[in-house]
Amino acid sequence: AKFDTLALKTDLLENLQTLGYHSMTPIQAKSIPHILKGVDVIAQGQTGSGKTAAFALGLLNKLQVKKFRIQTLVLCPTRELADQVSNEIRKLARSIHNIKVLTLCGGMPFGPQVGSLEHGAHIIVGTPGRIVDHISRGTLDLSNVDTLVLDEADRMLEMGFQDSLEEVLAEIPKQKQTLMFSATFSPQIESIAQRYMVKPAMVEA
Ligand code: AMP
Repeated sequence: AKFDTLALKTDLLENLQTLGYHSMTPIQAKSIPHILKGVDVIAQGQTGSGKTAAFALGLLNKLQVKKFRIQTLVLCPTRELADQVSNEIRKLARSIHNIKVLTLCGGMPFGPQVGSLEHGAHIIVGTPGRIVDHISRGTLDLSNVDTLVLDEADRMLEMGFQDSLEEVLAEIPKQKQTLMFSATFSPQIESIAQRYMVKPAMVEA
């Protein structure tokens, strides 16, 4: 199916044309309609499946640029993935002016991250450990987040981020949309889904 069959904002659709994204990948075709409805989604998708654009288009379509608050948090297992995700979001957001995407990962100094947070952002992409550190230091306000993305959730759990994930989840308003992407499903993943997600739509690509 083509992207222009979706109820996406015109500027997003035009930018997709410019980028040469015409047909949706299977995971995009199956997940984006649910994502645009605002419901929670659990999607099985690996790197290379186009999963990043699936959630990026959903969050960009609902973002209010004029409201300069952190509205979206994307959690990733590694800095490498967080950088990739930030780049893909920025690329898809090119037609939206003044949108601010900030990457917060471990292994990077705190000072510049705190400075960037003081300047404000719409979207944060980061690794769970560093996000928890910012919460503890009081440098990250997640009270306006309405979309949470757990990218490569299985890898985050394998890397021992379960406690950090739960700490972050506790900081985000209950009323929100949660999008979980995972290559595999385990009882641990199901447990998180059961406790933190509401009637999720399940998508297998
Ligand atoms: P991902 O699986 O999210 O890491 O995406 C893999 C690559 O496919 C990225 O480089 C995207 O820019 C690209 N991509 C994602 N969706 C599409 C699409 N529908 N058409 C063309 N390229 C795409």
